Amino acid sequence: MSERKTTKEDVHSWTSRYADKAGYMLNPDEEMRELVLEGIAKNKDTHGKNYCPCRIVTGDEIEDKKIICPCIYHKGEIETDGSCHCDLFFKKEDEDTDED
Ligand code: SF4
Repeated sequence: MSERKTTKEDVHSWTSRYADKAGYMLNPDEEMRELVLEGIAKNKDTHGKNYCPCRIVTGDEIEDKKIICPCIYHKGEIETDGSCHCDLFFKKEDEDTDED
């Protein structure tokens, strides 16, 4: 009954597509990235939605909707801090950073 269905590979696949589309990149640190992907997969199986593994699922459906990955906060966080709260999505580094 509590069999795992969602794998971190599943989550990796849609988060990569989202990152591509949104102009972000996934955390290049594999270990950290895998932890977050695993956490999202676990939430999907436990709570039925891709809830953020770095925030508390309250049980209030309306509140919790805000933390379904990609959460309502990530854009602002990436803009301000360079990455989302979980360090899953990062601002894409500009390859063309010549400043003089
Ligand atoms: S903080 Fe990052 S990983 Fe967590 S839900 Fe928001 S976008 Fe997803």
